[in-house]
Amino acid sequence: MSRIWCERAWLGPEGVADNILLENDDGGAITHVGTAPRPDPGAGVLTLDGVVFPAAANAHSHAFHRALRGRTHTGRGDFWTWREQMYRAAGALTPGKYERLATAVFAEMVTAGFSSVAEFHYVHHRPDGAAYGSAAAGDGPEGAGPRGEDDDLDSEHAMELALCRAAAAAGIRLTLLDTCYLAGGIGKPLAPEQQRFGDGDVHAWLDRLDSLRKAVAARFDPARITVGAALHSVRGVPESALPVIADRLSPELPLHIHLSEQPAENEACLAEYGVTPAGLLARHGLLSPRLSAVHATHLTAEDIDLLGGAGATVVMCPTTEADLADGIGPARALADAGARIALGTDQHAVVDPWLEMRALEHGERLASGQRGRFTPDELLQAASAGAVAAMGTPTAGIAVGLAADLAAVNPATMRTVGSDPGQLPLTATSADVTAVVVGGELLAANGVHSRLGQPADLLAAALKEIA
Ligand SMILES: [Zn+2]
Repeated sequence: MSRIWCERAWLGPEGVADNILLENDDGGAITHVGTAPRPDPGAGVLTLDGVVFPAAANAHSHAFHRALRGRTHTGRGDFWTWREQMYRAAGALTPGKYERLATAVFAEMVTAGFSSVAEFHYVHHRPDGAAYGSAAAGDGPEGAGPRGEDDDLDSEHAMELALCRAAAAAGIRLTLLDTCYLAGGIGKPLAPEQQRFGDGDVHAWLDRLDSLRKAVAARFDPARITVGAALHSVRGVPESALPVIADRLSPELPLHIHLSEQPAENEACLAEYGVTPAGLLARHGLLSPRLSAVHATHLTAEDIDLLGGAGATVVMCPTTEADLADGIGPARALADAGARIALGTDQHAVVDPWLEMRALEHGERLASGQRGRFTPDELLQAASAGAVAAMGTPTAGIAVGLAADLAAVNPATMRTVGSDPGQLPLTATSADVTAVVVGGELLAANGVHSRLGQPADLLAAALKEIA
């Protein structure tokens, strides 16, 4: 059991309360929420000053995109020209290099206030499209003792296990979304630079996913690291695969898909299939509460009704959508229609839950001419509990039964001083985060990771390897 005392804590719709004492079980779940005076030093209670919030859930990440930050801004361009640079970064990854880069990126996330991430992972084969581990049989000799990194590097799942080890090192909860990516566009084969994203056909992907789930479950705590599924997009997965996925994919797995990020995707989908991407998913019974639609930027009124009516999660990535000139998705309308709103940092032009919350509301204001489209409480919900269905790991929150994953914010910095504590989503940044707790354990303080040190140092070393 552990105890955490919070000078002030955000308790959801009840608002911010003073002198909150949390008791947690050995698994890091909250068992009691009460009040108590500030504990004496040495009383064995972790003390968090400032205003404590649930740690954020990063519901959409491609860790390697962090390599592009601050390197893609020369000249004009759009999503598609950015994508060419992204493919070059993908081509440079090996399991070892990706493990080091992802460790750094996940450490950056933790120090910014995230305790969980849904990693949308499609770099699962060698650059020429061959499977990893094809030179070695199985995961290593039986009876040779605990499996180590060297065995995993020879595994069919070398890339995936590298990401799992990176998450374990950084202490972030990981839902590894293994991604089906079979086509380079509707009716087009994978391009040479996309070969390593592909499994050949949908059955091969489903088989590899089954094998991956067993490999991860054998090595990692499911409360910390688990596997989910993703379809890259209706560009990357042909319609013929969708009924197979609807039939064979285990119902308990979260399922994510990039949806209607760009008008060109909608146009191609309408031309080929006669429906929008959301309509195509509905045609095959794939719209459900386990579905997370990422971006959902360019939707029709009917699409909004379909996603909302299904109780799907919509993962908005507002800083990425701004950076890539995608557009502003109809988040308020989706929430009003019944969709759950979650947030992701996607390509990591920014890794900061506070800026993501702010960008969601700012996009709404810019598009609608109205303020207060999402309340600060709704923004905080989007950044935490909004991802409950998008993740396979426990949800953070300051309530009994939820994970003791917390982020404390200093309300007296030059950015935050004077703010109503409940309105910090509109003023704070990750630079104001003074402590991050995952599963009851203090994992970062004032921008420094307790196990790994300065994320900037890790990032510098990892980026040097692939740039
Ligand atoms: Zn993405």
